[in-house]
Amino acid sequence: MSESFQPQTFGGNRTHRRRPLWTAMARGAAGRCPNCARGPLFARFSKSVEHCAVCDEAIHHHRADDLPAYLNVFIVGHVVIAGFVIVERVTQWSSFAHLALWLPLTIAMSLMLLQPIKGAVIGLQWANFMHGFGGEEDAVADPDIDPASHG
Ligand SMILES: [Zn+2]
Repeated sequence: MSESFQPQTFGGNRTHRRRPLWTAMARGAAGRCPNCARGPLFARFSKSVEHCAVCDEAIHHHRADDLPAYLNVFIVGHVVIAGFVIVERVTQWSSFAHLALWLPLTIAMSLMLLQPIKGAVIGLQWANFMHGFGGEEDAVADPDIDPASHG
């Protein structure tokens, strides 16, 4: 009838051992190397290191792109909007009082969550051997970048 289900793998081959997804994401969220959990994951606020300083695991492969920002907006938006609606229902605050609370809270939460979210995304990509974390380079996906793929 149909072929048996094969789990999707990234990184080109199936020879490498499994990597623990949730452990890698937790290590990344804590700002640590997803492989050894000892080396720092970030060189600057949102700039990851090229290689782990402790185990030399290559970190530069990750392509978190906009995903951490989208997740950040999703989480902060739900917390702030739900908080605003609840406070609006139970208090008689002025618009200025709401602004004085929710605007700084939005900025503070966004800044505090960006690095942990990005670290968790890097851990997710590392655990799934995505984007070269499997020891091989990704194939060029954009035909405009690779002229050889034009028939
Ligand atoms: Zn490491």
